[in-house]
Amino acid sequence: MNIGVFGTGYVGLVSAVCFADLGHSVVAVDKDHQVVAKLTAGEPTLYEPGLKEILTRNLDTSRLAFTTRAEEAVRRSEVLFLCVGTPPRSDGSSDPVQVEEVARSLAPLLDGHKLIVEKSTVPVNTARLLDRTLRWWAPLGCDYEVASNPEFLREGSAIHDFLHPDRIVIGADSDRARSLMLELYGDAFDCPKLITDVKTAELIKHASNAFLASKISFINMISNLCEELEVDVSVVAQGIGLDHRIGHHFLNAGLGFGGSCLPKDLQAFVRIAEDFGVDFSLLREVERINEGRVGRLLKKLERALWVVGGKTIGVLGVAFKPNTSDIRNAPSLQVLSRLKDAGAILNVYDPKAASSLEQIHPPNAHLHYAVSPYKAAENAHALVILTEWEEVTSLDLARIRSLMRSPIIVDGRNLFNPVEMRERGFEYYSLGRGDVTISEPHGRVKNPGMEA
Ligand code: NAD
Repeated sequence: MNIGVFGTGYVGLVSAVCFADLGHSVVAVDKDHQVVAKLTAGEPTLYEPGLKEILTRNLDTSRLAFTTRAEEAVRRSEVLFLCVGTPPRSDGSSDPVQVEEVARSLAPLLDGHKLIVEKSTVPVNTARLLDRTLRWWAPLGCDYEVASNPEFLREGSAIHDFLHPDRIVIGADSDRARSLMLELYGDAFDCPKLITDVKTAELIKHASNAFLASKISFINMISNLCEELEVDVSVVAQGIGLDHRIGHHFLNAGLGFGGSCLPKDLQAFVRIAEDFGVDFSLLREVERINEGRVGRLLKKLERALWVVGGKTIGVLGVAFKPNTSDIRNAPSLQVLSRLKDAGAILNVYDPKAASSLEQIHPPNAHLHYAVSPYKAAENAHALVILTEWEEVTSLDLARIRSLMRSPIIVDGRNLFNPVEMRERGFEYYSLGRGDVTISEPHGRVKNPGMEA
């Protein structure tokens, strides 16, 4: 099948390369000339495991092409995916400008039957507005339909998730649109395919992300309680998650959720509910809990260092999660600006996202970029862990301890066992588990459950 994809960010690029890999012929459009030039040359514009290989493989077969010209995609394609950004407006609602802009650019080019599919995460009823916009700009009497096919991939495992989804949701209001979408996905996917009307599919995506965010804030509140009760939150999470009705995913207490999706989708969903007269204050609380996580971690650091100003702090990880170069809404951004404001000297390490951060925070006398976690630890008064990169989970802790000026680790991702950290001579702080505190650096962990 001939497919057009608009927007070549995380969702558009991954969709384009994967559909090409499944045998479809794909033309992907982006308005950014530099992005198109790089992708055409086989250079990924973002980091995702496996992306480079699948990109070059499909460029070589000529099943995949990139362009800035909408007409090259529209004229030849039966299905056109909209994968542009839907960033938040200042009031938290979803900004439709990019979606509307694409609709206006492709509408005058419509000829023959086209299925225009929302893959971007959009507020419920966007398809209706999209349809109206297309009608305003399209040639009179032209034949098109709008469908919804929300994307559930996770950054860091995007190619895998696209090719092995838990489910495919297809929102379509006609038999023709439904069968085109089913033909497109073909037999290559053996997951459940949920066919709904367009409005329902739109709602499913926002409701899914709101639920995931709620799960994270829930376990983070349990983690606050665990700290007071001297109980280990990871054991509680295990006990909760073994119930199949709950499951263990998204039950890791820590710094909370970030990234380009959950925070903005949660805010947008609250606004959507309000627009329809539904008070979804439950989700406002989810957001409030999440916003408190960075402060909670930094309080531990401040308590350990007494005064943060003038101290050298190694920061391990700035990406909002491992295996991605994305730092949009990453908790690290808040951590870094608060530590900078406090006058700390920062040595930052991230294997893939450092260059994204450098564009916002260029290096200076107070901010250095380290080439390894060990360089970041050199002469540090404390290490702060913000992303669970494999390089960080597998640290040589003896080496780290020998490099640091004082062996303080503040771990926002609960990567290490507090008892073992005490035995290795660290002062170790995490979230919702026993802290190895300054008063007893070589003493007991404030949590008897951890000793088991
Ligand atoms: P992104 O910001 O990484 O990419 C958007 C791309 O669209 C950019 O390359 C931009 O240049 C391009 N673009 C903007 N206007 C254009 C236009 N008029 N014509 C052509 N190209 C244009 O966004 P993303 O992270 O891929 O997210 C896209 C959508 O998918 C959002 O709605 C997001 O919420 C949703 N989503 C994202 C993820 C994720 O993990 N990133 C997962 C599921 C759903």
